Amino acid sequence: MNSPRPGDYIDIHTHDSIPVPGIFAVENIMAHEDRDPSGISAPVYTAGIHPWHLGENNAEVLLTYIRKLAPEANLIAFGEAGFDKLRGPSYEIQKAVFHEQLKIAGEFNKPLVIHCVRAWNELLEAHRDEKPETPWLVHGFRGKKDLAFQLIRRGMYLSFWFDFVVRPESSELLKSLPPERMFLETDGAPVDIRDIYTKVAADLGMSVDRLKEQIMNNYMMLFMKNHML
Ligand SMILES: [Zn+2]
Repeated sequence: MNSPRPGDYIDIHTHDSIPVPGIFAVENIMAHEDRDPSGISAPVYTAGIHPWHLGENNAEVLLTYIRKLAPEANLIAFGEAGFDKLRGPSYEIQKAVFHEQLKIAGEFNKPLVIHCVRAWNELLEAHRDEKPETPWLVHGFRGKKDLAFQLIRRGMYLSFWFDFVVRPESSELLKSLPPERMFLETDGAPVDIRDIYTKVAADLGMSVDRLKEQIMNNYMMLFMKNHML
């Protein structure tokens, strides 16, 4: 498995990343894209079925793609997977396919990257009911403190929405959360992960180097340990 080097900026969730020295990007592949991971430039990737691209009849094809890639060493997590109340098929279909991805994550002992829009109760309920064996990383988080802590209490990690986290009004929230559960991401938007680190480090009252170390440790905790132990 490829892994970040000390001093790297980790972009925990991106799309169509272009290699930049000093930035360790985690590419997200969506199953419907049907990409060959050998063609991506990022050192590691995640793969999942995004609820937006799930239909009435394509679940089996998409799951077959995920199962085929599942054992690959550089596939470090499954997802993004989850629930979206604004886009995608019915909740029943979303839930069934989420459940299947969760099973694969447990079987291959890799975390799950979560996409969740206006379905936090459903997500928390799924976590309670399914008792996943591996941790979840909620990407694009932009919620309130209470919600953040509900997720953190269930062992989840949060990666913040790139546009939310650079706004001054996110500073209060960032300061109130445990840094050992944080990640930062660009989500493939034309923003620079280094600028995001600079803003968040200032919020947390630490140097950018210290924040890099913190997020590196978080990465090790989330991806490099054997979750079954
Ligand atoms: Zn994404």
